[in-house]
Amino acid sequence: MSVQPQFIIDASYLSAAFLFIYGLKRMSSPVTARSGIVVAGVGMLVATLASFLYYFGVSEAAEPHLGTNLVLAVVALSLGTVWAWWSGKRVAMTAMPQMVALYNGMGGGAAAAIAAVEFLRTDAVHETVPLVLAVLGAVIGSISLSGSLIAWAKLDGRINKTWRYSGQQLINGALFVVTLALGAYIVFVAHGHAPVGLVAAFFIAALIFGVLMTMPIGGADMPVVISLYNAFTGLAVGFEGYVLQNPALMIAGMVVGSAGTLLTLLMAKAMNRSVSNVIFSNFGASGDEAQGEIKGSQKPAEASDAAIQMRYANKVIIAPGYGLAVAQAQHKLYEFVKLLVDAGVEVKFAIHPVAGRMPGHMNVLLAEAGVPYDMIFDLEDINDEFKEADVAIVIGANDTVNPAARTNKSSPIYGMPILNVDQAKQVYVVKRGQGKGYSGVENELFFADNTNMVYGDAQKVMVAMIQAVKSLEGGAH
Ligand code: NDP
Repeated sequence: MSVQPQFIIDASYLSAAFLFIYGLKRMSSPVTARSGIVVAGVGMLVATLASFLYYFGVSEAAEPHLGTNLVLAVVALSLGTVWAWWSGKRVAMTAMPQMVALYNGMGGGAAAAIAAVEFLRTDAVHETVPLVLAVLGAVIGSISLSGSLIAWAKLDGRINKTWRYSGQQLINGALFVVTLALGAYIVFVAHGHAPVGLVAAFFIAALIFGVLMTMPIGGADMPVVISLYNAFTGLAVGFEGYVLQNPALMIAGMVVGSAGTLLTLLMAKAMNRSVSNVIFSNFGASGDEAQGEIKGSQKPAEASDAAIQMRYANKVIIAPGYGLAVAQAQHKLYEFVKLLVDAGVEVKFAIHPVAGRMPGHMNVLLAEAGVPYDMIFDLEDINDEFKEADVAIVIGANDTVNPAARTNKSSPIYGMPILNVDQAKQVYVVKRGQGKGYSGVENELFFADNTNMVYGDAQKVMVAMIQAVKSLEGGAH
């Protein structure tokens, strides 16, 4: 008895779905996250191969464009694979968020493209439910595509302006209503056979809405926005999976959609905001305009002096930020930490949920350097300990340690929980100069009485600190 191709396809989709979910489960802990990515990747490979098997289960008579479609699919897959492999290999860790935004957008675009093909097919008999889902997937996917491209441009520093004018939300709302009306026309009036011009207008309206919705969102809100578009893409793919009756797409889409939604809610909570507040308010504006006068001056200190004070401290808490990733100083930092621990100092890492430029950025960096997980603490678990710390050292962090978020109501980051580094007895801040954080706001922490600035690239500063402690140990023998 021969095995039917359809059976192999169904079995493959089922195993792919299992691998997606199991992979995601493994991603929930930093210890197993790497293998989780591999498992989910294998799931994707299985799903892709199964989709190809489809071609051997359908006769040429039933599908007249089989040959052409097969060639087109192979060309598209080859282009995608080569581009993704090449860009994935060469992307800098600090540019990863842009890449994630771009890939999100591609997923949304692909989902919208599936819907477009459905609307333009003349041979299909459309049922209402799949059509409604196709329209919803098209709207969400298109918004995700154009919105993610704007997010990419903002993160990559290609667009620095937030774009706001009075009546903006009214215009955006009107455009959204027009988009939905066109979608409703496609489903209920044209029954999936609308004129090409109308279908094009529908997609263009959705794409423009994505741009208009993202343009006014300020820098500090980008983490939530990227995560939201991730969820959108998942949802759009899930809907289009239903349209194609492809279980692997449905499951993958729903897994991404729900994981993305949870991440969005967690990120918004971490920033003490609601998701609607992120999208519809002006929070996160690059905002010197809201900055009050900061009193005091920045007091420089030598790396070696700071290192020696930490060597003789009882408790040191480290607040890493984006600059640590830029300098790729995580390995040197951990080398320094090991020297402190050997000298009997209690050292902990405090991780702010939006430190760096992507969710989990700092955890990834520290894991890369081999920092044990029991040394790493989330904001809510460590914030009360800063007041007991002899030294808090801030390495390449800025917005996530800015006390203005607590006190200055007119600050664009007001309300965001921050690491309480300012409560430590002594604070050292490692940064190159007077550069601002991602939100563009000045940081009053740098001017505080108990703060000293250790100027320099984080990696060079860590090397100097290691040398200082080592020479001390050398001198002691
Ligand atoms: P910030 O971006 O606020 O500040 C980073 C600081 O690092 C800068 O002030 C810069 O100062 C310093 N720096 C840069 N390069 C180096 C270097 N080579 N050596 C030493 N210091 C360096 O960092 P945080 O991590 O505190 O905050 C993250 C910000 O990014 C938040 O506003 C967050 O909302 C936003 N964001 C977060 C995302 C996420 O998902 N985590 C995604 C997108 C945005 P100088 O130039 O003087 O050296």
